[in-house]
Amino acid sequence: MISVETALDRIFALVQPAQTERVALRNAAGRVLAETVSATRAQPPFDASAMDGYGVADADPSAGARYQVVGEAAAGRAWPGHLAAGQAVRIFTGAPVPEDVETVLIQEDVTRNGSEIVLGENRSSGRNIRPKGGDFDVGFTLEAPRRLGPADIGLLAAMNRAEVDVFQRPDVAILSTGDELVQLGETPRPDQIIASNGPALAAMVEEAGGKAWILPNAEDCEAALAQGFELAQGADLILTIGGASVGDHDLVAGAAERAGFQKAFHKVAVRPGKPVMAGQLGKALMIGLPGNPVSALISARIFVLPALAALSGLPSAPAPRRPGHLAEALPENGPREHYMRAEATTEGIKPLPNQDSSLLSVLARADALIVRPPYDPAKAAGDRVELVDF
Ligand code: AMP
Ligand code: MG
Repeated sequence: MISVETALDRIFALVQPAQTERVALRNAAGRVLAETVSATRAQPPFDASAMDGYGVADADPSAGARYQVVGEAAAGRAWPGHLAAGQAVRIFTGAPVPEDVETVLIQEDVTRNGSEIVLGENRSSGRNIRPKGGDFDVGFTLEAPRRLGPADIGLLAAMNRAEVDVFQRPDVAILSTGDELVQLGETPRPDQIIASNGPALAAMVEEAGGKAWILPNAEDCEAALAQGFELAQGADLILTIGGASVGDHDLVAGAAERAGFQKAFHKVAVRPGKPVMAGQLGKALMIGLPGNPVSALISARIFVLPALAALSGLPSAPAPRRPGHLAEALPENGPREHYMRAEATTEGIKPLPNQDSSLLSVLARADALIVRPPYDPAKAAGDRVELVDF
């Protein structure tokens, strides 16, 4: 069986470069920037006052200095005048600093009597001037590719970029397979269950910026699966759920092959999720996930989300890991990379008591997955482990 790393490499090798589109910046949050944006304005566009106070022409005003207030500069209202020695301009945060001003005295440091101000004993240090271009200058770049968060949107807005090129959102077809499944909201027979993996995976896909299509469930027969693959046409990524192992009713690999699936792998040394498969189906990348809800969602976290990020124009990379410390001891791991459901506690990260791969109620409690490499030796409480957020 191949490793998780090899499986991911084979998936990444099948990812086609994403198309781009131009969108209003207002609609660009969460999208992946496809053009490196270069600023054509500086921010601030002028030397700006950092405080409410008084601008004076002295670089180092001394205690007791007196000035006559001869004008006012406010945000959006520049003062065009000049200052002579002994003169000050009333100034507010964000106002352009008049040419002659060397220092902005903050208003708490002065006493005002009519049109005169007197500087007190303990002046706060600094000029209180934000230099032109101090945030970003003309030519500053925001590099692509990059998933745009609120601060990026603010930065691009400050550059006056009303539209940006982004990568198209991947279309993801989700096909649940199994005679026992009914679609959410339908009435199951006593021997049926709800196809809960469809909505769960759609949520994961949409959180990651993809467009999820939940297809009608396919029964465990060739014809139904063939029809499912038909309906999935046009998607960038096809996810099948269930029927991936080697039981009598596990028909996905065979049916996919008859629909033209070129297998890159089937089975990975991972726990949960061993029966996972991937390959090319028509123009799409197809990933076949096992049906057990925890297996489906964890293998989606490990294989589908990195694939989706790559399909969205981001660099190919596995699920990010962060360090954590175990709240309790763990025995030696077996031959497969194990992703254990775990809870964050004040003592550290704690594996949840039941790791059965059908238990959604346990997965819903998990804060992270503890990654155990194959044959990882036994660990003591307090030992460092790697975590994947879930
Ligand atoms: P399979 O991978 O088809 O052998 O299914 C393994 C287990 O997952 C079985 O108990 C199925 O009933 C269940 N299962 C399969 N597909 C889904 C789904 N879409 N939603 C919820 N459970 C499922
Ligand atoms: Mg099944």
